[in-house]
Amino acid sequence: MNDVRHDVTQPLLAADEPPPVAVYNAGGTSPLLLVADHAGRAVPRALGRLGVAPSEWERHIAWDIGIAGVGGILANALDAILIQQNYSRLVIDCNRPPGSPTSIPDISELTPIPGNVGLSDADKEARAREIFWPYHQRIEAELEHRRQSGRATALIALHSFTPVFKGAARAWHVALLYNRDPRLARQLLTLLEHQPGLVVGDNQPYVVSDTTDYTIPVHGERHGLPHVLIEIRQDLIADAGGQRQWAEFLARLLPKAFAELAA
Ligand SMILES: [Zn+2]
Repeated sequence: MNDVRHDVTQPLLAADEPPPVAVYNAGGTSPLLLVADHAGRAVPRALGRLGVAPSEWERHIAWDIGIAGVGGILANALDAILIQQNYSRLVIDCNRPPGSPTSIPDISELTPIPGNVGLSDADKEARAREIFWPYHQRIEAELEHRRQSGRATALIALHSFTPVFKGAARAWHVALLYNRDPRLARQLLTLLEHQPGLVVGDNQPYVVSDTTDYTIPVHGERHGLPHVLIEIRQDLIADAGGQRQWAEFLARLLPKAFAELAA
């Protein structure tokens, strides 16, 4: 059992720990703004690894395997800004509304998360205050800066999904998710459908909703910005070669999809 409890009168993150937000290529000029909610798997030292075994931290439950690598290469290829979260989704999920049932999960896939059981409101608020909000405030600040300078923007949320979930294999190589505004997703789907042999999920294996998502509804839909959530299957981007291949592939298609939309 995890018997480490953060003293809520103290900061959750110590001064020598990573900041919650990483911004790559901050001067990037692309209209495409890349974000990665599940790129990192850091855990505040005060939380004692949440009582979760080291082997579990290698798995998809801790983070979106491969997506930090894809995001970095893609940011460089597009000259786009990439804003990503450094802390694990098991600490607080940065693509869930704070307070929602899966924001700080007691269980992830089939793995219990002892350090998330029985948290006080103050425990939950500390995670939101120090990890969730700084990340989303950074995205919002970037979007506000672009609005004020009249800069065209599309929001691209990068994720990866496990090839096998609760024992079921998944055939899709890549999936595009969206909810109220399918504009950019449709353009990108059209381009992906022309790739021979590629199995593309159209709002599969997940969908975007207000209860299971935060980034697209809040930063994309509410501002009326074109957006898409891209999920890549993790076995395809597990190594540097796969990450480069997928980043270069998306770097060719995303500007085309955005240009089609503008036209
Ligand atoms: Zn994700």
